[in-house]
Amino acid sequence: MKFDKNCIFCKIAAKIIPSTILYEDDDVLAFLDVNPVSYGHALVVTKDHYENFLSCPKEVMHKVYDLAQRIGQVQIKQLGAKGVNILANCYEAAGQSVMHFHVHVIPRYNAPDGLKLEFNKIDEVNLPALAQEIKTNLK
Ligand code: AMP
Ligand code: ZN
Repeated sequence: MKFDKNCIFCKIAAKIIPSTILYEDDDVLAFLDVNPVSYGHALVVTKDHYENFLSCPKEVMHKVYDLAQRIGQVQIKQLGAKGVNILANCYEAAGQSVMHFHVHVIPRYNAPDGLKLEFNKIDEVNLPALAQEIKTNLK
């Protein structure tokens, strides 16, 4: 059991802090985000403490995404969402505020909500050179 006594999601997983639980088993837990950006905004977390997606062991990471998929399906079928964003922020520069691996499952309704995601093209990049650099370092 990896438990960080200063981590809010560790405390939620240990039931020291209450949450609105959607599902749990020995490895993963899903609950509603307390500051939802849309109706049904859920979080899926590991029960053990891992800093984020990038440092989470694969087996439990797969379980997190399996559960995120199932919750997303319910958001579409039951809550009437028209789309879902699956989001794992890694490190502060990417907007991570709770340093315990979690995946946001955010239903979207073709209506104004609290999430703004924009993809704006950056300046020209040498794509083949960049791809080569990444490829040679992929494990
Ligand atoms: P991130 O910015 O990706 O680290 O997201 C952390 C999320 O955790 C935010 O959307 C918060 O609203 C949510 N959050 C923080 N504390 C709690 C809590 N006690 N219960 C439920 N959600 C929480
Ligand atoms: Zn934790």
